[in-house]
Amino acid sequence: MTVLVTGAGGFIGGHLVASLLAGGASVRAVDIKALDRWHQVHAGAENMVADLRLASECRTAVAGVDDIYNLAADMGGIGFIEQNKALCMLNVLINTHLLEAAVAARASRYFFSSSACVYPHHLQERPGVTSLAESDALPAMPEDGYGWEKLFSERMCRHFFEDFGLETRIARFHNVYGPHGEWDGGREKAPAAICRKVAMAVRSGDHVIPVWGDGEQTRSFLFVDDCVDGARRLMESSVREPINIGSEDLISINDLTDLVAGIADIEITREHDLTAPQGVRGRNSDNNLVRARLAWEPSTSLADGMAATYDWIAEQVQHSTGR
Ligand code: NAD
Repeated sequence: MTVLVTGAGGFIGGHLVASLLAGGASVRAVDIKALDRWHQVHAGAENMVADLRLASECRTAVAGVDDIYNLAADMGGIGFIEQNKALCMLNVLINTHLLEAAVAARASRYFFSSSACVYPHHLQERPGVTSLAESDALPAMPEDGYGWEKLFSERMCRHFFEDFGLETRIARFHNVYGPHGEWDGGREKAPAAICRKVAMAVRSGDHVIPVWGDGEQTRSFLFVDDCVDGARRLMESSVREPINIGSEDLISINDLTDLVAGIADIEITREHDLTAPQGVRGRNSDNNLVRARLAWEPSTSLADGMAATYDWIAEQVQHSTGR
């Protein structure tokens, strides 16, 4: 079994390659970034640099593979996707060309990493949000830019199965976090940003932590090992409709910040920036369908997952500050 992982130099892709290799698969890992910028480079994989917006590079990447996990996307946290809507929508080039190449190469299965950002805004206007079930995505009013592209590409996967017989799997990931991902520079998401701020507070002694918005906005967060497990289980299943891969444990950003401060064992003062991007007010995953169809649910507690994430980011902060 030869498996292609695109976006393999990124956060989830790097963990997925490790898991597939450990399971005995032969893996081709592809990313647009030069190898020295990959979060993880696994010597056991065939590592390749390619721009998958280009049809020709997609054809090269899929040659001879059975399964394709498409995790490649130009994306980041809310600060990035709100400011780069066109760039996020250009991910449609990756999905279009990769789907076409998959059909032409007679690949067995195609996995698409969609997002909770496909769900409509009006269902996410309160912190005590009702969990989002798969059927809530339509009628559509997703996150502008990034969410529209994900919803469109989900639909394309469906029609590539109906019209060309390509077996497609569609995961709606909800706020994945963990070590070996973006933690600085503008693309990082809330859990990594909070870990960095707390780690820097530990080093500087200045325990004032900037928090985007009033911090009452809520999310659920999924540890990356659980995400990889869910993705692999979905690929092995016969489920073709989009399905949530997320956690149902809702927490506010204020409480998440306090949790990380507790892990670092410091007292902090939160300083709220009400002008910063906050995204939707509340978002949670409804896991009824994924429990029923895949018998899957996350097994890592937020406290354990954030402790592992904090330890890794604190190390990065230490290396980058050179002290
Ligand atoms: P990431 O940014 O760490 O990884 C994506 C990788 O894709 C990057 O390494 C990037 O260089 C690569 N890439 C971008 N353009 C490319 C191109 N033209 N050709 C080849 N590679 C290209 O992101 P991630 O967190 O690992 O997310 C993986 C997938 O999961 C993405 O599709 C993302 O939209 C989706 N997703 C992630 C989350 C999350 O919380 N991390 C939530 C929902 C959905």
